[in-house]
Amino acid sequence: MQLIEAPKQEETRKYGMLIGGEWVEPLSGKTFESSNPFTGKAWATISEAEAEDVNRAVKAARHAFDEGPWGRMTGTERARLLRRLAELIGENADNLALVESTDNGKLLREMGGQLKGLPEWYYYFAGAADKIHGDTIPSDKPNFFVYTRKEPVGVVGAITPWNSPLLLLSFKLPAALAAGCTFVVKPAEHTSASTLEFGKLFEEAGFPPGVFNVVTGYGAGAGAALTAHPGVDKVAFTGSTETGKLVMKSAADHLAKVSLELGGKSPNIVFEDADVEAASNGVISGIFAATGQTCIAGSRLLVHKKSHDEIVERLSDRASTIKLGDPLADDTEMGPSAFREQMDKVLNYIDTAQGEGAELVSGGNRPDTEGLKEGFFVEPTILTGVDNDMRIAREEVFGPVLSVIPVESEEEIIRLANDTEFGLAAGIWTKDIQRAHRVAHAIRAGTIWINAYRTLSFNTPFGGYKSSGLGRENGLDSINEFCETKSVWVELSGSTRDPFTMG
Ligand code: NAD
Repeated sequence: MQLIEAPKQEETRKYGMLIGGEWVEPLSGKTFESSNPFTGKAWATISEAEAEDVNRAVKAARHAFDEGPWGRMTGTERARLLRRLAELIGENADNLALVESTDNGKLLREMGGQLKGLPEWYYYFAGAADKIHGDTIPSDKPNFFVYTRKEPVGVVGAITPWNSPLLLLSFKLPAALAAGCTFVVKPAEHTSASTLEFGKLFEEAGFPPGVFNVVTGYGAGAGAALTAHPGVDKVAFTGSTETGKLVMKSAADHLAKVSLELGGKSPNIVFEDADVEAASNGVISGIFAATGQTCIAGSRLLVHKKSHDEIVERLSDRASTIKLGDPLADDTEMGPSAFREQMDKVLNYIDTAQGEGAELVSGGNRPDTEGLKEGFFVEPTILTGVDNDMRIAREEVFGPVLSVIPVESEEEIIRLANDTEFGLAAGIWTKDIQRAHRVAHAIRAGTIWINAYRTLSFNTPFGGYKSSGLGRENGLDSINEFCETKSVWVELSGSTRDPFTMG
C-alpha cells in the first residue's frame, strides 16, 4: 500500500509531529524551514518542538508502555506488527528515498539502496522478537530455583543525524520494538521529513498509538529536552562526538541507559602488495561516496611509500572525473553537502590543511560549473603530504576530503591507524592473509574491512571504540541494549532461614 507521496518540485510541505498516534502542531506554534541542498531552496516547513511537546511525546510513549495493549503483547504479536511494518516500508521505499534525497542531497541511488534494504532490518528483528528470553541458572544454594527474565527497558529516546536518517533510526528502532519498548525519536533539524513520513506507516501497520512518536526541532531545544527527560529510560544517540558527550551527561542526571554512535576518522590502509585497482576503488568509495558525509568515511589513507605515487595518480584521475550533479539523476556520482554551514566547514578544513603544509592534488573548491553553483557542492578533494598530527588528519571533516599519509612499515601503519581519538572503522588492502588478520586485530575500531570498504548489515554488530561511541547496534546482541535483566529467586523447601545472614 502506497502511503507516502513523492515530493514535487513546486511543493512546500508542512509537517506536524506524531505524538500518541495523532498528528499535532507544536504548542508554541513555531516552525522552521528545511532546504533542498541541490536547489538551496526551502521545500518543507517543520514543527519546532520545545520541552512541553517533548513531555507530551514521552508521556504518550510511557502510557503506551504501561497501560496500552503494547505492553501486554507477546513477542509473537510484536513480530507480526514488525513484519507488517517491513512490508509497508518496502512498498513505500522509493518515495521515502526521494524524500531523503530531497532533504539531505545524498544520491537517490544511495538513499534508494538504503531504503530498499531497510525492510530486512525489521524482518530480522521480527524474527528475534519471540526469542528474547532469560536463562535458568543452576543455583549454588540448596532449594532454590533461579531464573532470569529479559524485560523491555521502557521508553527509548532516540536522536538521529542528517546523513542517513531512516537507516540510522533503523539501527535502533526494530531492536527496541522487538524488545517491547516504546519510542520517541527526534530527527536532525536538517532532515526531519523522512522520519515524519515514516511515522505514517505505523498506524497502517496496526501499531497501537504512542508506540512510535516523532518530535522535531533543534538539538539544544527538543533534543536536549528528550535526553534530559526523567521519563526516558534509555537514550539511543547517533551524531557527533561533541554532542554525544552532552547527551551522556544529560542522561546521567536521571541515570538513563545510553548508547552512542559517534564520529570517526577511519584509516583506509593500502599495503604495497594490494590489488591496486581494487584498493583505489575502495578508497574512492570510502571517501567520496555519500559526499564523504558518513561516520565511516575512510578519510585517512595510509599508503605504503612503494605504492604511493601510483595510487595517488589513480585516485586523482578518478576524483577529477567524478560526476557532480542533481542527487536525483541516475548518472550523478556525488551530490552536494547537506547544508551551507557544512560546505563552509569543509572548505575551511581544506584551507587549514594547506596552511599546515598539505599539498592539494585534486579538487579543493566549490565547482564553478553552471548548474552546480547554486548547490552546496565541494569538489572531490585529495591532499597529499599529510602528517597524522595535522588538524585535517585528526578532526572529522564529514566531507569529500581525503588525506594521504605515506607510511613505510606494518608497525608504523598500526601505530598511525590507532593514533586517533576515534575508533569506528578501518579498511585494510593486502593480499597477505596473515598480515590482514594481524592488522585487523591490532586496530582499535569497531568494524574492520579486509579488501572491502563500507559494507554493513542488520545482522552484524556496529559501533565504535574510544570517542566513536558506546554500545553496539545491529546484530542479535543489540536487543540487550533495550532490555533489563531481572533475576528471580524462588525458595523451594518452605523452610525458614537465619534472618541475620546473607547467602
Ligand atoms: P550532531 O551531533 O550535530 O547532531 C545529531 C543530532 O543531535 C541532531 O538530531 C541534533 O539536533 C541533535 N542534538 C544537537 N545538540 C543536541 C543536544 N545538546 N542534546 C540532544 N541532541 C542534540 O551531528 P550531525 O551533524 O547531525 O551528524 C553528523 C555526525 O554524526 C558526525 O559526527 C558523524 O560521524 C556522526 N554519525 C555517526 C554515525 C555512527 O553510527 N557512528 C552515523 C552517522 C553519523
